[in-house]
Amino acid sequence: MAEVLVVVEAAASGVKKVTLELLTLARQIGTPSAVVLGGPGAAEALTPKLAEYGAEKIYAAESEEIDGYLVAPKATVVAELVKRVSPAAVLLASSQEGKEIAARLAIKLDNGVLTDAVGLEADGTATQVAFAGATIVKSKVTRGLPIVALRPNSLTPAPAPASPSVEPLPVTVTETDKLAKVVERVAEQKGARPELSEASVVVSGGRGVGGADGFKLVEELADLLGGAVGASRAAVDSGFYPHQYQVGQTGKTVSPQLYVALGISGAIQHRAGMQTSKTIVAVNKDGEAPIFELADYGVVGDLNKVVPQAAEEIRKR
Ligand code: FAD
Repeated sequence: MAEVLVVVEAAASGVKKVTLELLTLARQIGTPSAVVLGGPGAAEALTPKLAEYGAEKIYAAESEEIDGYLVAPKATVVAELVKRVSPAAVLLASSQEGKEIAARLAIKLDNGVLTDAVGLEADGTATQVAFAGATIVKSKVTRGLPIVALRPNSLTPAPAPASPSVEPLPVTVTETDKLAKVVERVAEQKGARPELSEASVVVSGGRGVGGADGFKLVEELADLLGGAVGASRAAVDSGFYPHQYQVGQTGKTVSPQLYVALGISGAIQHRAGMQTSKTIVAVNKDGEAPIFELADYGVVGDLNKVVPQAAEEIRKR
């Protein structure tokens, strides 16, 4: 079967879930090879997880410079690899970084590119969501190989243990790649809560929460359920909660087992980021709020009364 390159995304905690999804998808269309792009030692730390999810080969491009110059050197390394091994497809995460690498790769290879995909068939046909999830589009790259960026939480990753070989890749950072460099990295303040786009429970608050103080209720419920906290754009724009927690078209895409929407009206741009959640619970004082069209369970009521009652019940169990 033809080789499919998966560009690995990792955090301090290890391989990101979206990469495991990409490996699962790659197995359906060919033989997955993982491409690790990072500082010295990056591949060794990630190998066990990549092997568990079926990487038959790991390409390790490790260099201080890869980390030092934003994404440009990463695109250069992947482009050189593609020219050498002629894979059947290149799969990336449809994250900020993944999309930028995909775009640069497409330019370097004079190739088509598809982003925001939620599925990919063996013949290269991708399913994309457009207009904030209102339209589903089937599309195909018509020039070159499929370079496809997949949205996180598009499928359930399935393990398939493999014994990958590891091949070091040369890293050559061109003068053009050096046009922008990283001057400082500030780690996101991490609490005990799971990462928003990877959490199996998300409790989100909207403008109806009423203020930054009101988010204590949202956090309390999230902690009781072992979940992450999310926010609508109106809540973020009003300064109730930081932007990195925004869910929606211009925020993060989540697809947890349980999504709880507190004081969120359910605008199409918010739905775009959470509508594939397995079970949706909404609390809203307006029985006509559009979120109830989507919710599996809904409570029409004041969240300031409903949430403390729910929390009390959960604490008893
Ligand atoms: P509102 O629409 O004001 O709704 C508040 C809700 O809280 C109401 O339904 C009200 O009945 C309820 N409520 C009030 N008080 C209580 C109470 N005490 N108890 C219970 N319920 C209460 N939005 C996003 O969320 N994410 C995005 O990524 C995003 N991207 C956008 C991109 C573009 C280009 C545009 C144009 C808009 C985008 N938006 C996004 C904004 C979106 O259109 C909505 O404005 C936003 O989602 C509304 O947020 P909200 O539901 O919190 O606020």
